[in-house]
Amino acid sequence: MKQVHQDELNSFRAAFPGLDQPINDEPLIYFDNAATAQSPQVAIDAVTNYYSNNKANVHRGVHTLGTRSTELYDQARQTVADFIHAPTATDVIFTKGSTEGLNWVAQSFAQQLTETDEIIVSVFEHHANFLPWQRLAQQTGAKLVVIGLTPSNAFDWAAFEDKLVPQTKIVALTMMSNVTGTTIDMRRVSAMAHQVGAVVVADAAQAIVHMTIDVVALDVDYLVFSGHKLYGPMGIGVLYGKPALLNQIEPALIGGGMVALVTNTTAEWLPLPERLEAGTPNVGGAVGLAAVITWLQTLDQVGLQQHVLRLAQALLAGLAHRVAVTTYGVSGSPIISFNLAGVHPHDVATALDQLGIAVRAGHHCAQPLMHALGLTNTGTVRVSLAPYNTLAEVHRFLVALDEIIVYFR
Ligand code: PLP
Repeated sequence: MKQVHQDELNSFRAAFPGLDQPINDEPLIYFDNAATAQSPQVAIDAVTNYYSNNKANVHRGVHTLGTRSTELYDQARQTVADFIHAPTATDVIFTKGSTEGLNWVAQSFAQQLTETDEIIVSVFEHHANFLPWQRLAQQTGAKLVVIGLTPSNAFDWAAFEDKLVPQTKIVALTMMSNVTGTTIDMRRVSAMAHQVGAVVVADAAQAIVHMTIDVVALDVDYLVFSGHKLYGPMGIGVLYGKPALLNQIEPALIGGGMVALVTNTTAEWLPLPERLEAGTPNVGGAVGLAAVITWLQTLDQVGLQQHVLRLAQALLAGLAHRVAVTTYGVSGSPIISFNLAGVHPHDVATALDQLGIAVRAGHHCAQPLMHALGLTNTGTVRVSLAPYNTLAEVHRFLVALDEIIVYFR
């Protein structure tokens, strides 16, 4: 395996000011990256610079600041489009985050589906990619088909193939579970789903951080992600869609910035992307996200992800050595869920926080998966890794876990 140079890892970590602080008198170990990642100085500076020097509304003012702000916003869209290999920038809609994009896409089918139609999701879905489809099914009478787990807790491809029928109109799946890190090959999903004419919606909220995303190669119809998990600001996200489909989305919000012509009785929308971005957009957020992406593209991303893989392997091996620990998930995944026998996940997370270690505990907004794993009443403790984490942190975490095991014995 190719080794990323230690200097590169050190300088990557040094780019994140939030990591360098004590928590409860211990150096912070930030292992909650799947919930949100820390932001590098380059993103913080881009947002600060925007608000300090360039703040003005977009696509409205003819003055210099208005033009500058509009240019920055348009450039940010192009940067995102290039990053996910979207054919044109107008295929990229800025949203608040993955949740908003998924809700918009789901509601665009509200007038289209009928009782004979079916929607496929999986038990791996975050609630953001489950509830909008559950509601759509309730609204239209369509059937929600939930693909379950194999005995080894993987995505059940055989069941997927079996449930994919001509009535299937939508296949909405995560590319990476936020609980177990399990991945679903979206290229394979698209190839299969398109054979029955279904629309494919990819939830890339976690995958965008760890994989190269090429929407054309994946042949997905829609894809969403959130800026904050990719080290960017909160409140900015992306909805990619094939133009013919994006044009079918009836704007959830209407108002300023998205109309071509309004009379007392009629209105005509602007073309994409404006028609789906009513109101003043989060320009600062888009600029911050673009700054992160531009910065990431200067780095050895493969090397950084391989470093994460090494951390994950060390962590999983350490957990496997401890008899009190049960793990859920896949080897080599940057996201690892586990439980300590007889100790509630919240108690584990609270005890870890006392030692300066941030993890997430609970159902991780993925209750269908918790039911499938038989963890409805407990949930799990989740460690999620980023390239700024270190092997020393993994070792400190395992020592901390031993202290907790002894304490609760
Ligand atoms: N999908 C997955 C797989 C996630 O992990 C998350 C957030 O944790 C979301 C969707 C929702 O993202 P957001 O809260 O940024 O809209």
